[in-house]
Amino acid sequence: MTQPSAEEYVESLLERDAQLEKVKEVIRAKGMPDISVAAGYGKLLTLLTKMTGAKRVLEIGALGGYSGICLARGLGEEGMLVSLELKQDYADVALDNLREAGLGEKVEYRVGEALDSLKQLENEGCKFDLFFIDADKGNYPNYLEWAIRLGNPGAVIVGDNTLLHGDIMDPGAQGNRVVKMRLFNELMTSDPRLEGVILPAYDGLAIARIR
Ligand code: SAH
Ligand code: MG
Repeated sequence: MTQPSAEEYVESLLERDAQLEKVKEVIRAKGMPDISVAAGYGKLLTLLTKMTGAKRVLEIGALGGYSGICLARGLGEEGMLVSLELKQDYADVALDNLREAGLGEKVEYRVGEALDSLKQLENEGCKFDLFFIDADKGNYPNYLEWAIRLGNPGAVIVGDNTLLHGDIMDPGAQGNRVVKMRLFNELMTSDPRLEGVILPAYDGLAIARIR
């Protein structure tokens, strides 16, 4: 019998989650990509939202609402999630899934290029306590600058897939998304405006706090 991986072992301890399993089924049935955040990190998103007491959360990259549910679950009574998504049909699926999970009142989807939506949010004077960056990887350093701009003091910034399935550690990999993700990882851990760390399990999760 082969041994489970560390991720498999830890996931075996987590309670079954019918709501999130349903979301994964819907995503599969609609032919959307199977790239929702890992179960263990989804749980961490809920915990981080609760532990920081975040009232306003911004997600960049919604897909089918899996991570959106994880974030919204952590919000208190007056908390709100704003989620940016390029594709209208994905945002529609995500909203359906959040409604199905009883969280439809806690989320606002904004469709279009995230960089445009971020500018719009700034124009509206919006500020946030927690960010989850999970859209196009080549823009991560840009999304990080926006998060720092739109973040309240002490706000938490989380970035998913920061190891790019190991490409980050491959010295021969020099494509745009790899180069930009290396920069993102360096900023998350050493930018003087931030205090951060990267969890290397699954596909890598970077977490930083705005000083
Ligand atoms: N956070 C989701 C997964 C997101 S997958 C989860 O874990 O459940 C990445 C998403 O980012 C896709 O839905 C994709 O359509 C969206 N995306 C890609 N480029 C984007 C852009 N420029 N602006 C906004 N969203 C974008
Ligand atoms: Mg991801």
